[in-house]
Amino acid sequence: MLRSLTGAAMFAAASLPALPASSQPASPAAAESIHERAERLRDEALGNDTLAWDITEGLTTEIGPRLAGTEAEARARAWAVGSLRALGFSNVRIETFDMAVWVRGEERAEIVSPFPQPLVVTALGNSGATPASGITAEVVGFETIEALEAVPDSAVRGKIVFVSHAMAPTQDGSGYGYFGRARREGPSIASRKGAAAIVIRSIGTDYHRNPHTGVQTWAEGVRPIPAGALSIPDSEQLQRILRRPFPVRMRLVLTPRNIGTRQSGNVFAEVPGRDPSAGIVLVACHLDSWDLGTGAVDDAAGCGIVAAAAHRIMRAGTPLRTIRIVWFGAEEVGLFGGYDYLRRHSGDNHAAIAESDFGADRIWRFDSRLNPAARPAVDRIARLLFPLGIVAGSVTEASGSDIGPLSASGVPTIALRQDGTRYFDLHHSPDDTLDKVDLTQLRQNVAAWTAMLAVAADMPGEFGPVPARQ
Ligand code: ZN
Ligand code: ZN
Repeated sequence: MLRSLTGAAMFAAASLPALPASSQPASPAAAESIHERAERLRDEALGNDTLAWDITEGLTTEIGPRLAGTEAEARARAWAVGSLRALGFSNVRIETFDMAVWVRGEERAEIVSPFPQPLVVTALGNSGATPASGITAEVVGFETIEALEAVPDSAVRGKIVFVSHAMAPTQDGSGYGYFGRARREGPSIASRKGAAAIVIRSIGTDYHRNPHTGVQTWAEGVRPIPAGALSIPDSEQLQRILRRPFPVRMRLVLTPRNIGTRQSGNVFAEVPGRDPSAGIVLVACHLDSWDLGTGAVDDAAGCGIVAAAAHRIMRAGTPLRTIRIVWFGAEEVGLFGGYDYLRRHSGDNHAAIAESDFGADRIWRFDSRLNPAARPAVDRIARLLFPLGIVAGSVTEASGSDIGPLSASGVPTIALRQDGTRYFDLHHSPDDTLDKVDLTQLRQNVAAWTAMLAVAADMPGEFGPVPARQ
């Protein structure tokens, strides 16, 4: 712990003097208008931000993978507290909560017959375990989750179900909701039908021999079975093998374990505002990651982006509203941090909330869900974002991962949407590492968040309330 705190303090001390003189604290009474100041802060971020990179590099290098509830996530929290304090934020603290923790074990798959060969597999979150020696069974393949749902139980009983549902890349990532059903619901459907195990084609869009993990939660009363994801090349290999007129047998070894209740937590830092009655602007990301890569695009970069933008506003003078940064814990495994925040803070006066959790590529669209009376603020933010190549999107739909439950309750929400075209090449795979983060695109993110915050934290008037979602 001492070592990580020392490292954090070192990077923070090194990054502070790099900011230009014009970012030094200014009097809020300066003649510059909110719009002019937002333009200046935006352009400075675009030109020279290093803080988002330093946080992303520091977290992925000094901590690495940080699965929720493990000792690695605890080290990440200590690192976060040290870093955010060293950067000069106020009220830096951790709110802890308990959760059940699942950890990965051995994972191997092989075709036993007719064409013996190994396949690359990883366990999905909360997967059941095989015996140490594995299970061997016939494979029955389905091209969609609906096709699996449609067959009688007798078609899959005692077999290894394989779902090869293929997701295509999209800019807004909207295919994930539909195709992700194979991961989120496939295991429970297969178990209900009496399958011995399930393997799915990874919910990804790359052609590397990397499997993509991700959470799935057993439906009420369903018996956990081994549940894994094959890499996409291995998935297509298995599809070709299944097209031959022979029964296909697979041996599967997955030995994850439930290790009981452990602690996770949300890390807070604030820029106190001039007027406590003006409310809080919450900017969020998640600190935990899956265990296969180092969680660079999911979601160290998000933490770097929101903290770097808040830091720029802080150094430009005391904002009207309080900016609250939350680096959420335990997002990947079921939004535990988001629900803990909702439980404790739903009564706080949130003026607006926003989260960065869709990688590190450039922002292309600005969505919001604010009260119609807040239209002047929406229009001002849109004008500030146009020069960054960001289009104005929905004014009625915006959400986020950890902030989703709070957003659904009717809290005004802003979404700066990143280009997701290559996000699912990396998502939850061993390939989610720092080298995938592009500094120029990361700076564009910080510039957009800085411009948004310069308005949201300083423009007088209300952003809410908005109707709650059902
Ligand atoms: Zn994420
Ligand atoms: Zn994720």
